[in-house]
Amino acid sequence: MDLKEKMKAALYAGIVGDALGVPVESSTRQELALCSVKNMLGYGRYDQPEGTWSDDTALVLCTMENLMEGYDIDSMGKLFCKWLFESYWTATGFVFDAGLTTYLALDRILHDGASSKVSGCSTEDDNGNGSLMRMLPVALFFHDSPLPELLAHAHEISAITHAHPRSKMGCGFYCLFVKELLTAPDKTVAYRNAVAQALHFYSADPVFKSELPHFMRIISHELQGLGENDIRSSGYIVDTLEAAMWCTLTCENTKDILLTAVNLGLDTDTTGMVAGGLAGLAHGLDSVPPQWIESLSRKEEIERLIDRFLETAITTRPHVPAAA
Ligand SMILES: [Mg+2]
Repeated sequence: MDLKEKMKAALYAGIVGDALGVPVESSTRQELALCSVKNMLGYGRYDQPEGTWSDDTALVLCTMENLMEGYDIDSMGKLFCKWLFESYWTATGFVFDAGLTTYLALDRILHDGASSKVSGCSTEDDNGNGSLMRMLPVALFFHDSPLPELLAHAHEISAITHAHPRSKMGCGFYCLFVKELLTAPDKTVAYRNAVAQALHFYSADPVFKSELPHFMRIISHELQGLGENDIRSSGYIVDTLEAAMWCTLTCENTKDILLTAVNLGLDTDTTGMVAGGLAGLAHGLDSVPPQWIESLSRKEEIERLIDRFLETAITTRPHVPAAA
């Protein structure tokens, strides 16, 4: 499997994961145990047709567009505002799912004229999964940058909306796993390498180091041995990161990873998106059910955007210096 195909699989599996989760977002695990998601469904939670994706995909597409057209943190923040306030890159023409932290940060950019460098919310309560859900293209685009540069980009792009160190680190752990999945011989090796790199990098900074205990189940490798009852699927960034990693490490193929992620319940679409990115990398494009890809809203436009993005990410990406 070549690099381009792996990256394409990651993006499609992530978007499909979002769309699988949309109709059942907020359903509990107990409710889904009685009537589990087995296929792409329509309507439900937001009354949207089959294949409709949400804010997760919209912001992934905005991120891809900004990165390939010449990454700039302020113009990326403004593009996110265009999504939230003008329905740009929405599946069906309007925004039906936006997180509070994201809303508050983007409101500061649009209405207060704040720079994207200072717009993000940074209290402990601002550690939802709203920046993790849009991090996949950042990891793909900067996959061959030196590790400190990859993490600096992940942190600054998270901080447009989510600026607490725990949110930045959650995005960093994810980017390292994505980067390793692109080259490691299997997903267990990729996970082990990513954890070692994250631990080494974050231990060197006192602020990040003080947050490491929140990632202990990932760092200790305890995660792989846990059962479903030990995995949470709320909107908290650590829960989403753990759930996505756990599904990827314990399921054998992309379809199982996606369905397991969504059927964990609660923040189904974001768990689906984050897990999907990892699943596509681990198992390839053939592992993503083609009928699920075909069902996606704006499929042709997404395909064109992915192709242009990957062309830039793999062959023509200019060097973008990271913020100090
Ligand atoms: Mg969503």
